[in-house]
Amino acid sequence: MLRIVRHPHPALRFPSRPVLQIDDDLRTSVRQMFELMYDARGIGLAANQVALPFRFFILNLTADREQRTEEQVFINPEIVKRHSTIEDEEGCLSLPGLYAKVRRARKIRVRAYDLTGELFERDVDDLLSRAIQHETDHLDGKLFIDYLEPATLKNFTEAIRGFELEFRQGQNQGRILSDQSLKQKLAEMPHPSAAFAATGYAPGEEPAVAASEQPAEPGV
Ligand SMILES: [Zn+2]
Repeated sequence: MLRIVRHPHPALRFPSRPVLQIDDDLRTSVRQMFELMYDARGIGLAANQVALPFRFFILNLTADREQRTEEQVFINPEIVKRHSTIEDEEGCLSLPGLYAKVRRARKIRVRAYDLTGELFERDVDDLLSRAIQHETDHLDGKLFIDYLEPATLKNFTEAIRGFELEFRQGQNQGRILSDQSLKQKLAEMPHPSAAFAATGYAPGEEPAVAASEQPAEPGV
């Protein structure tokens, strides 16, 4: 069973490995990730946000589970061109409730495989461009807070510490595996399969998102 992990879960900083095979395991994981993303009212989710250290992510900019035709899967994505920059607000399902302006390329060219194994290349801009850059960063172990200036980051210190405290408490109480065990599981994982996901949470210990905590704006 997959679940969305939060900062400072080691999967979010773990170097993701390329997907070598598009099989039923991967398709099942992708489907589960879409359902988790809709539950969290997100528009995008990277595999390592569900503790699968493999290079793929999903998007549906509508955040609406009824709009299946808007679902997009990017496997082994590469951003091959970037053009000019623009600043806009971002949030992240692994840091729920935090929003900040991040400067990113305005237009990009992305190359990736889809779920049928077909290689595609697209030029995109606006929200799609931003979401692809945010998710590709996840695969490289990078979070949007890494871009913030120290002055801006200061405003989030307390919130970020809150996430860290919650996670460490879970580990101290034995509800979440230790960082060392999680890293070992991540390193040994043979496939991007829900059966192997290294969330590290004891059953029923999902980090619940209370209704009031749900992102007001789409997270990714
Ligand atoms: Zn994110």
